[in-house]
Formats: sequence, C-alpha cells, structure tokens
Amino acid sequence: MSDRNAQQLTRNAMRALLAHYRITPGDTAPEDVVTEWLRELRGRSVGECHAALSSLPLNRVQHVTAGEVARLITLARSRPAATGTPSSARPPRPRDRAADKAAGARGIGTVYELMGWTGHEKHALARTVPCPFCRASAGVPCSPLTRNRLRQREIRDRETRMHPSRLRAAEERKRANSTSSGAAASGTTQGASA
Ligand SMILES: [Zn+2]
Repeated sequence: MSDRNAQQLTRNAMRALLAHYRITPGDTAPEDVVTEWLRELRGRSVGECHAALSSLPLNRVQHVTAGEVARLITLARSRPAATGTPSSARPPRPRDRAADKAAGARGIGTVYELMGWTGHEKHALARTVPCPFCRASAGVPCSPLTRNRLRQREIRDRETRMHPSRLRAAEERKRANSTSSGAAASGTTQGASA
C-alpha cells in the first residue's frame, strides 16, 4: 500500500494541484475556487486527483471542472486494472508496452465517451497512420513540432492533438481501403489462373 497515494486533499494540496495543472490563471487559485474543488473532491486522495488530471489532454485539463475530475476518479476506481494499480507488483516488461499503449488508447476513448467529449474518433483515425509532418509512428501521438526539416509549418489540431496532414492521410487511406476492398469483392476470380 502506498501512503503517498492515499495522501489527504488539504487546501494546500488543492492549491498546488490547481496551479500545477494551470486550471486557474495565475499562481494562486482564488479561495472560493479552492473551497469548491475541495467540496467536490471530498474523500479523494491527492494521488487520485493527479492520476485523473494527468490522464487528460492539455487542452482539456485547463477547462476541466471539479465535478468532471470527481467522475474520472469514480471511473478509475471502478476499473482498477486500467489505472495501473499493481495487482501483481510486477513492472511491465518491454514487450507489454504495445499492449499498454493500446489499453491506454482505449481508456482515453472511454473517458471521452463518458464525458460527452468529441474529437476522439478523429484522433483514433489519425493515429492509424504515421504522421507525414512530424514522423510520429502509427499508434504514437504527434509531437508538438510546428516546423519540420523540410521547413513546412503545421500546428496540431486543438481537438485531436494531431497534425492536420496526418488526419488527411488517414482519411485518404480509409477511403482508398474502402474502394479497393469494393473492387476486390467485384473482381472475384482475379489472379486465379496465374
Ligand atoms: Zn504529427
């Protein structure tokens, strides 16, 4: 059992969390905001708040409400395996990483769905292909790069956090796949005589 993760939420801890994740502008959160967040998150630990807040993309975390964080923690408690709670105290081996990444992507999808957020479908589609701009591999989110070695400029889409050319590439590939599978279905005996 980790005592650190069970650390109680105090006013100081709440202030630190709000500042760390830049949820309130400036270095010090207004007292009424601290009070409201403490009330919403009563019974949750500092570790749980950290885990919930760090699971959010940057453009979400700055607009998140205390109620949403509380729901994320409730969700995490109901799925202990997905939050990485060590049931068998075994550190993940390197070959588990692909599986971890896939589980992480599914988890984020679930969070988006439960919170009624949009954009994840496009994000998931974009990550099926490598990024032609920042060269992120398939399955890996885009880097924050804004100018590449070819001196092209591109800014990641706020909603999907992917470079727009990557989403276009994924959409094109999806279209190509659907037309080619249609063609394959109609050309039934193609290549049978070879
Ligand atoms: Zn990219």
